[in-house]
Amino acid sequence: MSCALENTSPDRKKTIAVSSRLKEGRALVEDVWSIFGAANLPTDCISLGQGYMNFAPPKWITDAAKEALDKIATNHYSPPRGLLRLREALKQHYGSQLNRDLDVKSEILVTSGADQGQYSVCTAFVEPGDEVILFEPFFDPYLRWVTFNGGKAVFVALHPPADTIEKPSSHDWTIDLEELRAAITPRTKMIIVNTPHNPVGKVFTKDELIAIAALAEQFNLLVMSDEVYDCLVFDGKEHVRIASLPGMWDRTVTVGSAGKSFAATGWRVGWLIGPKHILQPTLSASTRIVFCANSPLQEAAAAGLELARTNLFFETQRQEYTERRAVLCEAFDRLGLKYSLPEGSYFVLLDVSRVQMPENYSFPDSLIGRGRDFRVGWFMANTIGVSALPISEFYSEEHAKIGEAFIRFAFCKDLDLLRNAAERLQNLRKYIR
Ligand code: GLN
Repeated sequence: MSCALENTSPDRKKTIAVSSRLKEGRALVEDVWSIFGAANLPTDCISLGQGYMNFAPPKWITDAAKEALDKIATNHYSPPRGLLRLREALKQHYGSQLNRDLDVKSEILVTSGADQGQYSVCTAFVEPGDEVILFEPFFDPYLRWVTFNGGKAVFVALHPPADTIEKPSSHDWTIDLEELRAAITPRTKMIIVNTPHNPVGKVFTKDELIAIAALAEQFNLLVMSDEVYDCLVFDGKEHVRIASLPGMWDRTVTVGSAGKSFAATGWRVGWLIGPKHILQPTLSASTRIVFCANSPLQEAAAAGLELARTNLFFETQRQEYTERRAVLCEAFDRLGLKYSLPEGSYFVLLDVSRVQMPENYSFPDSLIGRGRDFRVGWFMANTIGVSALPISEFYSEEHAKIGEAFIRFAFCKDLDLLRNAAERLQNLRKYIR
């Protein structure tokens, strides 16, 4: 006997309409993470694309995770605000940097990764039609967090280094404050700051942050400050938290991540630090989205922060990343290609405008309509055996051309792998014009 519904509803065979919010912000388009995911690349390709480590978190942290699994309570829901032990550890960690006695009951919120926390901030504060300012290039999910919540992204350039600079650094990517001011309208609700910056590696200076803060004050803007790479700032540069600037605590939410701090990107444990009037509505959103973050790994993240105070973990890790950065950058120096030496994060942008691909090289359909940087990235992964990410994905369609000059390499990998990649990269020489 055939099903009654099948007879009465001819429309059931038609595709069910996708919500319009997915059609904005390029959310339905195959993204860079999957085009350049391992499944699409040669099996022996060294992946310096997506930013994940090829090493484990420190043993004293994974031990804490295992212990948490052996306890009953930490296999079950934690409070939607996060486990108290983690909030206490975060209070210690951030309190001195922000010069505040943080209230664990209202000023700290643990989330399922920094992404979900930031999505929840958007859900809590962005009204349909509200404008949110992003510095371009931007970590691509920002765009969807804004559009999924009905907002409109407005882009302000981080201008690439001038051609005349022979050895640029991420510091040479600059903002023009007049452009920022001009982007602010009566609909502007929020500005997303990202320091250290993904993908540029820029560590915003205190003066830049003071200037952004002044505009936020003048126009009453919320500031979401994505600082997930805050423990990876090199060469004695200072990581300034915009929330620590005079008057800024009240309008800033600071974002952090266990994944970046402890080499555990799959744990999806992140947090937000901010005043009660920002975190309470955000908690209301977050609770309705995920209820709470996973409990055992919150326990492990707490142990990580507690122990890092005494075992100099962050100092050692910074040193290790400095060596990793050097291996990759030396490979680019040997090739004679320009790159922006990152002051922070674990990404390097390489200028690939001088890479000349063979004219008859064939590319997959997934690259149709994409920028030249997608083709260079694809060619490199398949010919040289090292993958990196095209940067036009981190731009609005309007400005994607600027990004086409660059591809992003992640150096959150062990020295052996990076040395191997550095050797392979020398084979690019014959394609440089
Ligand atoms: N933040 C990481 C990166 O930029 C990974 C992000 C992701 O896979 N969506 O590489």
